[in-house]
Amino acid sequence: MKSLTVNLEKHSYPIYVGEGLIADAGALLARFGFDAAPILVTNNTVLQLHGAALLRSLQKSFGPTEIIRIGDGERFKNHATLLRIYRKLFRAHADRRSWILAFGGGVVGDIAGFAAATFMRGIPCVMVPTTLLAQVDSSIGGKVGINAAEGKNLIGAFHQPSAVLSDTGVLRTLPGRELASGIYEVLKCGTIRSKSLLRYLERRLPQVLNCRPDAMQHIVMSAARIKADVVAADEKENGLRMILNFGHTIGHAFETATYYRRFKHGEAVAWGMIAALSYGRDLDLLVPADSERMIRLIRSVGRLPSLNGISM
Ligand code: NAD
Ligand code: MG
Repeated sequence: MKSLTVNLEKHSYPIYVGEGLIADAGALLARFGFDAAPILVTNNTVLQLHGAALLRSLQKSFGPTEIIRIGDGERFKNHATLLRIYRKLFRAHADRRSWILAFGGGVVGDIAGFAAATFMRGIPCVMVPTTLLAQVDSSIGGKVGINAAEGKNLIGAFHQPSAVLSDTGVLRTLPGRELASGIYEVLKCGTIRSKSLLRYLERRLPQVLNCRPDAMQHIVMSAARIKADVVAADEKENGLRMILNFGHTIGHAFETATYYRRFKHGEAVAWGMIAALSYGRDLDLLVPADSERMIRLIRSVGRLPSLNGISM
């Protein structure tokens, strides 16, 4: 297991990364001084694939765990699901000593984190992200929230987690496009902050695509460190944190224009990065060889859904 710290003074927290980590979650979290069992927020997909190991480990340290299941998918990241979570928290007699454990991808993390930020004016939340995207991006930095009918992520808060536990072993059950979507965000991190991460991806892409333990631990640690450092320098996105939006302006336009149906988020970002790299080259802001090298790497991850017929 490896770890790093997100340095935010009073709100600093550790990120643990390792193969098989969820089997040690109880022992790891027992050190945090929680005096109740966690309330697990998750969905059936993740619970069925990986729940047993986590629940066994939590049981040993904290006793029986209450489970709140939400629907699987972006369309459940809304106020109706949030209200159900609150209701179940009350029914489970949750109080200000309670804490939430978010077990799933970015959808679970965002909504469970927002429930934690607002229930009784804020209770602790631990993130156990299970997609690559959630391990390198959404679980870090404290942005939590839900979608509104008027747009994505329009209701939310900053609520830093107490800890993040990223088990790289769970990534092996990810569908191919979900894995690729996370890889594009890792590639984004390399492009904005780390030549060595880019070189690593160029050399080891086959191992990454096969979810080899050493490769996954390396890329999750490297990308998480980049996100953690950027967040530590600019927690509330007043400046530097915007660098994380590389490829996202155009990517978001593609997602919106196709009603969020054609692309996984990372795939839209991949197209956004390709567009930004081409534009940068055309404006002489980038050496052509650098732009081409980056585009080649993005293309080598896999096939991207086509841009055909998108009208803006
Ligand atoms: P997701 O949470 O929908 O997960 C993708 C799919 O993978 C789901 O069907 C999920 O059930 C399944 N899954 C999860 N773990 C699995 C595993 N180990 N094996 C097999 N299947 C598994 O999507 P995501 O890409 O993780 O997250 C996207 C969300 O994250 C969006 O709502 C986005 O707005 C949000 N986000 C938030 C931030 C932030 O800073 N808060 C940053 C980026 C993205
Ligand atoms: Mg993104």
